[in-house]
Amino acid sequence: MTTTLIIGAGGVGRVVAHKCVMNKDVFGRIVLASRSIGRCETIKDELNGAIDITTVDADKTEEVIKLINETNASIVINVALPYQDLTIMDACIATKTPYLDTANYEHPDEAKFEYKLQWERDTKFKEAGIMGLLGSGFDPGATNVFCAYAQKHYFDEIHTIDILDCNAGDHGYAFATNFNPEINLREVSANGRYWENGEWIETKPLEIMQVWDYPEVGPKDSYLLYHEEMESLVQNIKGLKRIRFFMTFGQSYIKHMEVLQNVGMLGIEPIEHQGQQIIPIEFLKTLLPDPASLGARTKGKTNIGIVAEGIKDGKPRKIYIYQVKDHEECYAEVKSQGVSYTTGVPAMIGAKLMLQGIWSGQGVFNMEQMDPDAFMDEMNTQGLPWQVKEL
Ligand code: NDP
Repeated sequence: MTTTLIIGAGGVGRVVAHKCVMNKDVFGRIVLASRSIGRCETIKDELNGAIDITTVDADKTEEVIKLINETNASIVINVALPYQDLTIMDACIATKTPYLDTANYEHPDEAKFEYKLQWERDTKFKEAGIMGLLGSGFDPGATNVFCAYAQKHYFDEIHTIDILDCNAGDHGYAFATNFNPEINLREVSANGRYWENGEWIETKPLEIMQVWDYPEVGPKDSYLLYHEEMESLVQNIKGLKRIRFFMTFGQSYIKHMEVLQNVGMLGIEPIEHQGQQIIPIEFLKTLLPDPASLGARTKGKTNIGIVAEGIKDGKPRKIYIYQVKDHEECYAEVKSQGVSYTTGVPAMIGAKLMLQGIWSGQGVFNMEQMDPDAFMDEMNTQGLPWQVKEL
């Protein structure tokens, strides 16, 4: 019998659990494990007891190995934090269990993310005869699949890609983040970076801005950030000359972030406070609203997509593939806001295709290395219908 082990019971873990239950014929027994049991209990109650729950400290490989063995897991869906990617991957290697995550490994002490340490495990995944699927969220995730789909059906060669991520949701707070505040603020406050003609070009944080008119949302200020899917896409999309990533932020978000940065609240180094060591950004996380609690109050839409430009049959072509999701619709379906929803559904789809053997392989893979068609079909039926426009 199939057993699906989900690690991490945050905003994304909740959506994955709900969606796996909706696809129970494929996922079989569903076990949700997290650092603390409280959120697991809430999710189990929402699902009328349809899942089993337990605790695990996924920073400890031995604990994850024990849990995989006890549950006889057929797959591990890692939706804890990026800090746990390597320990969970190592446990999957030791137990020969397929692995999937939604975010690139980061070390808690260094705000830098890259695939190096995860790609280095490719040989061990091959030796164990298992598949590891990296970045099966929306971005990374669906955006990589959009690129592969554009490559397969629309272009002979893609020359430029812009990934455009808009969250026009309003939660009514002066300042809150839509997913883990620590991960989110580290990403946004870091230097920007894009890739052009074989080189990475670095920018100051939020230095480059363009206004993009997002269908069903309208024009929004969109800022250039570094984002992890670019690292694999520059390797896997042949003929690419430039790739950039833009995300929308409102003026209020940027103002708050600048102030927090100026006063040192985004620091990741421990400081002494009244005889105790505290890490400023962790303390800030305690003060900010829990992203999982934003669902009930968020209104508006997300629109995430890619614009690709290149050549088809000797003629220039430009297309836009995008997905629009309404926050309130997400909450009505799975008690979660749109950012967790648009991450959790692709995680479930990636795992479903792996369990069905539709996506298979031995080693560690990024999403665009898989055939995109089955994933795109699943998006249409699992709550993330997409559009293609010729520009
Ligand atoms: P949350 O902070 O809401 O949830 C993280 C969960 O992981 C919490 O339940 C937490 O437990 C648990 N956890 C943390 N450390 C451990 C540990 N050592 N052992 C076991 N469990 C642990 O985060 P989100 O749900 O918002 O995000 C989940 C992941 O999704 C992150 O990696 C994030 O970067 C990624 N993401 C990816 C996106 C994409 O499009 N690709 C977009 C958005 C997010 P506790 O409740 O005890 O704190």
